Amino acid sequence: MRDKGILVVVSGFSGAGKGTLMKKLVQAYDNYALSVSMTTRAPREGEKDGREYFFVPREVFEEKIRQGGLVEYASYCGNYYGTPKEYVEAQLEAGKDVVLEIEIQGALKVKEKFPSALLLFVMPPSAKELKRRLVGRGTETQEVIRKRLERAVEEARGIENYDYIVINDDLETCARELHSMVRAAHHAPYREEAFIEHIRQELDVLVKGEK
Ligand code: 5GP
Repeated sequence: MRDKGILVVVSGFSGAGKGTLMKKLVQAYDNYALSVSMTTRAPREGEKDGREYFFVPREVFEEKIRQGGLVEYASYCGNYYGTPKEYVEAQLEAGKDVVLEIEIQGALKVKEKFPSALLLFVMPPSAKELKRRLVGRGTETQEVIRKRLERAVEEARGIENYDYIVINDDLETCARELHSMVRAAHHAPYREEAFIEHIRQELDVLVKGEK
């Protein structure tokens, strides 16, 4: 039987480069499935429905909540964001490591529901660089940038809840580091229970045979 995949939660300040990093990770390694969230925010230029997000009106989002169709959801800078349940469950079952790129409130809810989830936090090399990236994106108004920086200050207080931090300076290096953290997590003893039990039984048989 194939092992079940790991639920990998990736958070980080807006502008830390999570989106690009996730795309790189999925391109470079084939064990990942990237969950597409549902949101009530408007699409940015270049974003496509069903690719970056499922863009829906508030009523549709609220109906999805009522149906219990989300793993988690949160409100972020005035909009709803949530993780559709079906895809995540199917991909984990198929042995894929499922990546959720979500903010901190959602990440903590996932950890409550799935204590074995791996929580990673992507940091920019510096606060100045974060602002430079947010402004450079050119898709956000000054007001939105200000809100997102304020939100970063709040989120910075919760980083201790994560398993590892990753600094996104060089994209390739960062993707490689992130991948190695996920690989390492696969070898935690509680994920290797079947193998450990197998060796224990073999050892028992071996020791008995030598008596
Ligand atoms: P953005 O508007 O920049 O695409 O996303 C804003 C924030 O919402 C980011 O921190 C992103 O990680 C987070 N986010 C995206 N999808 C979800 C989701 O399904 N659930 C939660 N809780 N946060 C999400």
